[in-house]
Amino acid sequence: MNSRVIAVANQKGGVGKTTTVVNLAAGLAELGRRVLIVDLDPQGNATMGSGIAKQSLKLSGYDVLLGEASIEEARQPAKEGGYDVLPANRDLGGAELELVNELAREARLKNALQAVEEQYDYVLIDCPPSLNLLTLNGLVAAHSVLIPMVCEYYALEGLSDLVATLRKVRVAVNPKIEIMGLLRTMFDARNNLSQQVSEQLARHFGAKVFDTVIPRNVRLAEAPSHGLPGLVYDRASRGAQAYLTLAQELADRLEPATITPSV
Ligand code: ATP
Ligand code: MG
Repeated sequence: MNSRVIAVANQKGGVGKTTTVVNLAAGLAELGRRVLIVDLDPQGNATMGSGIAKQSLKLSGYDVLLGEASIEEARQPAKEGGYDVLPANRDLGGAELELVNELAREARLKNALQAVEEQYDYVLIDCPPSLNLLTLNGLVAAHSVLIPMVCEYYALEGLSDLVATLRKVRVAVNPKIEIMGLLRTMFDARNNLSQQVSEQLARHFGAKVFDTVIPRNVRLAEAPSHGLPGLVYDRASRGAQAYLTLAQELADRLEPATITPSV
């Protein structure tokens, strides 16, 4: 299987991008897939949430984007969860300025990934909450985009900015990139507005909306402070189970069914 490079992006903050990256990585790993998380956010939340201390990184995504280290040198295994992480910390924020005069600065990650692509079935890129050069590196490297969103009043409005950016990326640098799916996160089924926005979403994006819905679940919010994916922290929780279901749905969507010869 060729590696599937998926950017998890939404310029809106706090919609569950990092939670999705970490738990999807753990879910896919549990299904036997080899997974790399690329933390492209100077906040380093996916790094911390994977049990890696962001303050004491010898090498990080920053060194990789600047061409001073390879992903093989900078990656680390997650503390638990069975996947690898290209970690990040606030240094990464400086990369944007330092790359200003460099050639092909939006293709740094894509080029660096080529050396390890064979080693992974999935690469999940955790994008920061903005449409900056870091996110652009994610979108240029990716085959597809997974968009987590909270079903609230302004959710759809924010989406149109992201869709417009994707259109530009498609024209300028990465013609093949597509929206793989929209994921409803922190969903509260008792909330009428959530239901309405969810229906609107289905009307606009149809089958692009994942069947799996991630409920609001406090166990998912507690897990990062232990440096663990929710799936490891409390496997039986509704949130963890939803992410396991999502991992299966994603694998079903992306991996061609093996053809069993008829007897
Ligand atoms: P940012 O834009 O800052 O990178 P983000 O989009 O990556 O944010 P997260 O960090 O994943 O979003 O989530 C925002 C907050 O909501 C975190 O405190 C997280 O623990 C919590 N959270 C995420 N998903 C859920 C959920 N399904 N139920 C409850 N809390 C959640
Ligand atoms: Mg995040």
